Amino acid sequence: MRRDRLGKAALTIQTEKRAKAGQWVRAIVGAMTSSPIRPGAPSGAVASPAPDSMAPSDSVAPADSVTPAGTTGSTNSVAVVGGGPAGLMAAEALAGAGLAVDLYDAMPSVGRKFLLAGKGGLNLTHSEDFDAFAARFGAARARVEPWLHAFGPDEVRAWAAGLGIETFIGSSGRVFPVEKKAAPLLRAWLRRLRALGVRLHARHRWLGWAAHAAAPGVPIADAGPTGQVLRFDTPDGERAIAHRAVILALGGGSWARLGSDGAWVPLLAERGVALAPLRPANCGFEARWSEHLRAQHAGAPLKSIALSFAGRSRRGECVVSEHGLEGSLVYAYSAALRDAIDRDGRAVPTLDLLPDHNAERVRAEVTRPRGARSVASHLRSRLGLQGVKTALLREVLGAEGMHDPERLAAAIKALPITLVAARPLDEAISSAGGVAFDALDDALMLKALPGVFCAGEMLDWEAPTGGYLLTACLASGVVAGRACTQRFGPR
Ligand SMILES: Cc1cc2nc3c(=O)[nH]c(=O)nc-3n(C[C@H](O)[C@H](O)[C@H](O)COP(=O)(O)OP(=O)(O)OC[C@H]3O[C@@H](n4cnc5c(N)ncnc54)[C@H](O)[C@@H]3O)c2cc1C
Repeated sequence: MRRDRLGKAALTIQTEKRAKAGQWVRAIVGAMTSSPIRPGAPSGAVASPAPDSMAPSDSVAPADSVTPAGTTGSTNSVAVVGGGPAGLMAAEALAGAGLAVDLYDAMPSVGRKFLLAGKGGLNLTHSEDFDAFAARFGAARARVEPWLHAFGPDEVRAWAAGLGIETFIGSSGRVFPVEKKAAPLLRAWLRRLRALGVRLHARHRWLGWAAHAAAPGVPIADAGPTGQVLRFDTPDGERAIAHRAVILALGGGSWARLGSDGAWVPLLAERGVALAPLRPANCGFEARWSEHLRAQHAGAPLKSIALSFAGRSRRGECVVSEHGLEGSLVYAYSAALRDAIDRDGRAVPTLDLLPDHNAERVRAEVTRPRGARSVASHLRSRLGLQGVKTALLREVLGAEGMHDPERLAAAIKALPITLVAARPLDEAISSAGGVAFDALDDALMLKALPGVFCAGEMLDWEAPTGGYLLTACLASGVVAGRACTQRFGPR
């Protein structure tokens, strides 16, 4: 119970804590070294006693080690670009099937956003039934569901267990590692990849494909008729490296400082790949708060409330932030709120500040004579309403409305909050938009670019928090890895 509460709370990213978050983000992302994963381990081998490629999760280790990448490349190897969960899983599928794999990441180490997710307890997946799980992907369900058949919530748990990470189901049905950390899982995962022979090239920023008119002096290998010659910015300058095929797993466009900066968008667009613009998902929203509310209540949690919007109602909690509203309850509605704002310029959800009290009871208490007591102390003593809840009522109703018992009672059960914008993409938990499904075949290969597969958050799907994001990223990595193996398998 307690673990699950912690998990939910952790996904409530509070904007007012972002400055502090910056410190711990720096601490945890520094915790990984970029020690290369070396080739040569027997295929299919389980973790060997090779040294960890990560430092203990709470220490900061030097991070500048780069596997020398051949300037001529290897048409025998498949490139995976992007070392988040989707790319690491694609690498595991490829290497597990016996392919040589080179994994590139722009950052000094892989899995930085995954480690950040670990700060919130690492909600790996969800235990609800398959149909309910698949329904979380909304309009993209038809495309995501086959991935989940290949590698769904049960497989995620079994996979984690295979890495020595036991999981548990919280009271909300969300699934977490028992330790509620990402670092042990990532360490074990990298050990497995190392044992499978995956070569990791950190600080290799993919720049696109080498044209024959590439930058002067950049060696270009002959990749053969189906091969890919990829351009990378490396600590040793720009390189063009040939591969048999490539899986792109470049992430979305949020938390750019962890590597997912969306800079790949023009690289694919200029090759004729259809893309939906990256937009914030699981994000906070802006309201035009008064200076008073901002100064006195920014950061205050709104607990035990219900939010209604577009015919749906749900209980939970959120936070009154400096800019508006943040937190898990708001994230759950973020797609609908964002789309309404795009369409109408604003979205007006309502908050039920006392979901355990019916409207009649609230009205009876509010209209009860209050004598000399102020409205605030009347609400506190009759209904237990105080602090930020009372402040929000005053913010929306004004002094006049607070003295109108009928309006006040109605507002307690359905307080309209006008939201005018989503918070910026970079602050969001995840991104909507990305590579359009129509640009891909069922094997996640780009129709316009045979030999190029895509996986993870860079595809045009979105889902709420609850473990759906990681599950779909891992599953799409499996699907792309297997499909690539089938088509470009060991020669
Ligand atoms: C605060 C926070 C908490 C979260 N908690 C959870 C959770 O508990 N459960 C859940 O399901 N989801 C959670 N998520 C979402 C989840 O972490 C992401 O959906 C997931 O990491 C996306 O995986 P990915 O592999 O597609 O991309 P990413 O993890 O973003 O990885 C992409 C990788 O590509 C690399 N890259 C990008 N461009 C280039 C380039 N040009 N060249 C080379 N490399 C490049 C990046 O450096 C990065 O390593 C959370 C997200 C955040 C921000």
